[in-house]
Amino acid sequence: SAALRSHLARILGVTRWHVPRVDGVIEADVAIAGAGLGGLALSAALRRRGFRVVVLERAAAARYTSQGTIALWPNGLAALEAAGGARLPAAVSKRGVAVEATEILNCGLHGSESTRRIEVGPHGVSAFFIPWAKVQQELMAAAEEGEAVGGAVRGPWLLESWTLDGRGVLGALSSALRRWRSPPWLMCSHEVAGFAEDAEAVEVRVAGGAAGAAPRVAVRASLLVGADGLFSRVRAALQGSPGGGVDLERINDYSTTNWNAILRHAAIPGPPVVPRGESRILNLASPKLSCYLVDCGEGELFWQIRQADAAWGHAQRGAGLGRPGIKARLLSLFDEAEAAAGVGARDILRVIRATAEEGIFERRIFDTQPLPAWSSAAGRVTLLGDAAHALHPTPGQGANQAFEDAAALAEALCDAADRTGGGRRLRAEDVPAAVATYEERRRRRATAVQAWAAGGGRRQRDGTWQRTKPGPEAEAFRQWVLKYPAPGEEASVPPVPNDISK
Ligand SMILES: Cc1cc2nc3c(=O)[nH]c(=O)nc-3n(C[C@H](O)[C@H](O)[C@H](O)COP(=O)(O)OP(=O)(O)OC[C@H]3O[C@@H](n4cnc5c(N)ncnc54)[C@H](O)[C@@H]3O)c2cc1C
Repeated sequence: SAALRSHLARILGVTRWHVPRVDGVIEADVAIAGAGLGGLALSAALRRRGFRVVVLERAAAARYTSQGTIALWPNGLAALEAAGGARLPAAVSKRGVAVEATEILNCGLHGSESTRRIEVGPHGVSAFFIPWAKVQQELMAAAEEGEAVGGAVRGPWLLESWTLDGRGVLGALSSALRRWRSPPWLMCSHEVAGFAEDAEAVEVRVAGGAAGAAPRVAVRASLLVGADGLFSRVRAALQGSPGGGVDLERINDYSTTNWNAILRHAAIPGPPVVPRGESRILNLASPKLSCYLVDCGEGELFWQIRQADAAWGHAQRGAGLGRPGIKARLLSLFDEAEAAAGVGARDILRVIRATAEEGIFERRIFDTQPLPAWSSAAGRVTLLGDAAHALHPTPGQGANQAFEDAAALAEALCDAADRTGGGRRLRAEDVPAAVATYEERRRRRATAVQAWAAGGGRRQRDGTWQRTKPGPEAEAFRQWVLKYPAPGEEASVPPVPNDISK
């Protein structure tokens, strides 16, 4: 508490609190921009193999706020195993639930048009649904277990949280220990603002991040991985974007807003809205809405509503929790729909009423156009996850593809390090070839998945997506997506099915 802090501060001569900070240059094998799901999966994969890794995260803390739920498909689970060992997918999937059945209700102006029940997951394969924050916690724990950067001794916790006044014995001890302890592998409030690479290394330019204070640290690494998400600054710099900060010209806006929240089943009065281990999709023609309700394990329910409406939503980059008045707006949308949709809409109304407004997360749906290349010409900078290939979320593959990236990049770097005979210490000259192997293995497959997701996104926006049953070509493509490693992922990617992507 604040009172206890100030009491301790008086006794110990502490003059101010500060964000943990490291002075000087950090030397690492791999610097990762972004502690999202992709960056964390890569850091877990590399640290357990003994690489020296530093993750630079713009936010003041690793983010747990999006109230999202991730569908983890067989390909994502297999990639997590390849990246982090068998314990990782087991630990992650234990935090959610395997969804074995989905009920689809298509509602028109004259009540339910059709009801379809699909056993064993929405697409014939069981997926685990896990709250985003829990996936992140498990990835953090896996990364934490790995080697520390440099392997040096860490200072006592006190010195990581407090700055002493620099006078007297405590002050002297504090500065000595701060010089002595190794930097943490994850550095929040450190935003990657740019880079400069040469034949030996990449110098990462770091800015203050969300907390604002300018960090006194520079990072020099053999490789920089931009895992900094949809609005990646690393991608913009790589592509030489004229804007410098973000390459907005590469980002597609689907004129669609997504709202979601997680709450306890027990908080919703009345009979259960979805049975445990099941999900329900509700499509409404008017107003054009799609809703998703799914049991996400540990006694919790996830709901998501999507509306195609160009006029609504935050400013282009806006996203956040608890927009004032949002609950009333959602309730009014479904009040309108209730007469037409009957029982399905009534269930959604119950769920929204039971959700606190502060717990509703709102964002617009974007993806990126496929990139002609993911890596710099010199091969010391590459991209991963949404930074490389942000997907429309209809097939629930964004994080799964990021995990495939992490597994493939870790494998390529590991092969390069093994060949040097220098243990897991990467020789700088082997990095560009490893990066080329990674991109060769991943870019074609991720681009095909991106096109498939974009087709689904356009159909969802137009209100036809969940009303069409996938044809055999589309089903074959989906089965290819769900396999990791995928047959022919490097050479012969199957054609993206016309009935989904056009
Ligand atoms: C509505 C919705 C539903 C989804 N559902 C699913 C699903 O069911 N299954 C699935 O697999 N995927 C799903 N996804 C996609 C999934 O959430 C993303 O693909 C995944 O989170 C991408 O991870 P990432 O690490 O690449 O990026 P992010 O999670 O965006 O992480 C990027 C990180 O980088 C940080 N950062 C940004 N800029 C900088 C900088 N300059 N320097 C340092 N740090 C920086 C950010 O703060 C953030 O922590 C969904 C997405 C949406 C929008």
